[in-house]
Amino acid sequence: MAENLNLFTSTQAVIHEALHKLGYDEGMYELLKEPLRMLEVRIPVKMDDGKVKVFTGYRAQHNDAVGPTKGGVRFHPQVSEDEVKALSMWMTLKAGIVDLPYGGGKGGIICDPRQMSMDEIEKLSRGYVRAISQFVGPTKDIPAPDVFTNSQIMAWMMDEYSRIDEFNSPGFITGKPIVLGGSQGRDRATAQGVTIVIEEAAKRRNIDIKGARVVIQGFGNAGSFLAKFMSDLGAKVIGISDAHGALHDPEGLDIDYLLDRRDSFGTVTTLFENTISNQELLELDCDILVPAAIENQITADNAHNIRAGIVVEAANGPTTSEATKILNDRGVLLVPDVLASAGGVTVSYFEWVQNNQGYYWSEEEVNEKLLKKMVDAFDNVYTVATTRGIDMRLAAYMVGVRKTAEASRFRGWV
Ligand code: GLU
Repeated sequence: MAENLNLFTSTQAVIHEALHKLGYDEGMYELLKEPLRMLEVRIPVKMDDGKVKVFTGYRAQHNDAVGPTKGGVRFHPQVSEDEVKALSMWMTLKAGIVDLPYGGGKGGIICDPRQMSMDEIEKLSRGYVRAISQFVGPTKDIPAPDVFTNSQIMAWMMDEYSRIDEFNSPGFITGKPIVLGGSQGRDRATAQGVTIVIEEAAKRRNIDIKGARVVIQGFGNAGSFLAKFMSDLGAKVIGISDAHGALHDPEGLDIDYLLDRRDSFGTVTTLFENTISNQELLELDCDILVPAAIENQITADNAHNIRAGIVVEAANGPTTSEATKILNDRGVLLVPDVLASAGGVTVSYFEWVQNNQGYYWSEEEVNEKLLKKMVDAFDNVYTVATTRGIDMRLAAYMVGVRKTAEASRFRGWV
């Protein structure tokens, strides 16, 4: 039988199992197996050539029993309804794992920003906000950056929302430029969070980060900052990749040089001749492997060939359910996406708190609070996994879904 690569149905299966282990009945699963609300919009944009192109966008709100929904907006040709739904469910889990007063939300637009001008991207961003403006807001649903969206796009979206809302609404969206109410440290928060969980995982496996061989798939926002943090900690980053290929040097790559040469979409390997494939990269001999790119990278086909002792998922959904099982059976410590990549939404929460109180924190203060959130989260999940004898993914889902399930029950929804 072919492996299930559908993120939505595989997420549902783990949520089902987590709720069952927590003692909830089918009624709770019925409530949480889908987003409460899903909006589909069509966004007309007059392109540079004068022709109008109509884009499809989505915003999913999984569950707002705990608080407003929260999650990024992704611009990508492969965005689909099922993907946005699954990603909104993951945001519920992430918020639960790092204990934020949010439920999960997610948005996406089917488009390829690599083929669009800045003008076209601005019009699309503003059009999306006009289309979803009734549905979102600083106390309802708070967007943020995700794949191929950045602080400039957040700024346009915030500006458009402020026009509709007729007052300055910095708390409508997070991941903004600092001058518009962004938080110190938000741009590197996902990578910082991943770094913290890598350090925690390495401690559990008695691996010294200094000198550890690290392979990172993806050189976008998460992957590139992570490569820098790892090499600053003395690890040897022996492999990195982008959508076009991968670079490998057993002696360690010059990360500062690569950061300097990468473009805004994380492309750098096209500048080199001696590249290997992304598939080969994943199977390199290393201590720590970090998939930080896209979904379904480690599957039943290659899970047996993964040589890392620790796999930390910085991307959303890089390992399939079958591969998760294979890696766990082989004794690999797999730190799941909903835990490993929760640093981004954590600092988004800090940004929103600062916007709401109009009082801004220093970078040290942000980093200190992030460190505590991530270490506590790792500890919690690791303890559930070891005491119950289950894998870290199922443990993370149990920790992540509990608060939303309890809040839904108290509200009398189930
Ligand atoms: N898009 C990021 C994520 O998937 C961040 C979401 C946020 O900051 O709200 O976690």
